[in-house]
Amino acid sequence: MDPKLDESAIRKVVEDVLQRLGQSKAAQSTPAVTRGNRRSSIPSRTTQSNRRRPQGIFDDAYDACEAARSAFLQLREAGLDGRNRVVRIIKELCAQKANEWGKLELEETKIGRLDHKIEKLRIIDLVPGVEWLRPYGMSGDHGITLEEYTPFGVIGAITPITHSIPTLSSNVISIVAAGNAVVFNPHPGGARCAIVAVRTFNEAIHRELGIENLICCIEHPTLESFAALCKCENVPLLVVTGGPGVVNAAMRSGKRAICAGPGNPPVVVDESADIENAVTGVIKGAAFDNNLLCIGEKEVYVVDAVFNTFVAELKRQGAVALTDTQLDRLSAAAFSQEADGGGCSHAVLNRDFVGQDPPVLAEHAGVQVNRGTELLFAETPADHVFVIEEQMMPMVPVVRVGDIEEGIAYAVEAEHGYKHSSMIHSRNVDNMTAMARALDTTLFIKNGPCMAGLGLGGEGYLSYSIATVTGEGITTPKTFTRTRRCVMVDNLRIY
Ligand code: NAD
Repeated sequence: MDPKLDESAIRKVVEDVLQRLGQSKAAQSTPAVTRGNRRSSIPSRTTQSNRRRPQGIFDDAYDACEAARSAFLQLREAGLDGRNRVVRIIKELCAQKANEWGKLELEETKIGRLDHKIEKLRIIDLVPGVEWLRPYGMSGDHGITLEEYTPFGVIGAITPITHSIPTLSSNVISIVAAGNAVVFNPHPGGARCAIVAVRTFNEAIHRELGIENLICCIEHPTLESFAALCKCENVPLLVVTGGPGVVNAAMRSGKRAICAGPGNPPVVVDESADIENAVTGVIKGAAFDNNLLCIGEKEVYVVDAVFNTFVAELKRQGAVALTDTQLDRLSAAAFSQEADGGGCSHAVLNRDFVGQDPPVLAEHAGVQVNRGTELLFAETPADHVFVIEEQMMPMVPVVRVGDIEEGIAYAVEAEHGYKHSSMIHSRNVDNMTAMARALDTTLFIKNGPCMAGLGLGGEGYLSYSIATVTGEGITTPKTFTRTRRCVMVDNLRIY
């Protein structure tokens, strides 16, 4: 034996060999990522643990973020073709599973309408994908420059109870089209159906592309898991879709957050409006999924000159009017008064009433309506609780106003500066412009229902996260990218 090869040196050689053997085994067990005819394998840290657990579902936010980070690296290897394939998988599964998942979501959340839960999944095809990311090129005397939209890595996402699977699916398309992986902390009330969708998406992605855990989800989401997600070092960006509580929490987290916050969209109807069309629009938007849409028509201001015509048309198109007494009964059940400490009180929405069917609300109002009734309405003053609070019920307050100026002024008040959505029914361009300026909302729809603002009956595209608070607007793949510039000085310019 070589005298220099003492015991510790032999141990080192043995350890080296064992380590190399271990690495090659890990590489063998890691699924290969294919890109055209290229194959590469990136070790997945979660391969072992996921044999024992469902795909993408984690108890712990840190584990989820680690797994998503590994998936992000695998997606990078899969290139634009890989991203396109993931987008196609999500869109196809949403269409195929729309009935099943719509039912599942309604059973779990117990809010909204089955037909619209199904529709919200069928229209996922309208969410833009990789094609949205067009690089910006510049060419001049000093060469050429290209600005490209590149991924962040792992995005942390919070979803609402109002559209659990639709928001998750729409977020996945935008986030993955941009080249990122994602970790969801869904609303606890819609987490079970979110998990079913995540597992189904991941299984299909793994089958087709060999990537694991591209979409991760916290199995039992809590405020603590949200806080842990915010602290994860490899999550540089959050996208938050929800009410004021979660938006404020995200803004305080210290992370950059894209915030799709609350709304209370007003509608103004002036004397020049096509009343039949205005009523059709209001019923369509306010009745959709029992008024769960954040963009949905929540209160209507109608100028005195056409108020009675408007109300008659609402009835003609099937909406049912509540009397003052009936409205008082419903309001007392649907809101409570809470002291705010300063000797005043404010209304608090009873969550049990959110997204309930009109006959259920009517019963609380002390009246029976037909099962097929889509919308209730009542004439109210401008400061009524149904006007001021984001009530998310198929019961719209209709406020009589003297003129367009008064209608717009009340609309500004009720919108609370959320800068979310507003609607006008008018043929008067000056009135349209005045309202657009005064409300300053992210979506402003003229002569159509709210959903026309998301490519449903109007021009445009769809997303379930409208970044109102932070100003990105209707989120697209570009929202989830970093802009990077690549410059070639002088050379390569051929003209
Ligand atoms: P919500 O605010 O109750 O819950 C949203 C999410 O935030 C859930 O996952 C919830 O668990 C979490 N959350 C709530 N408070 C939190 C806190 N303090 N810290 C951390 N996490 C918290 O909202 P919701 O009832 O699920 O959804 C309805 C609300 O969302 C409405 O206000 C609606 O306008 C808004 N919304 C906005 C958009 C948009 O695109 N702007 C889309 C859908 C819904």
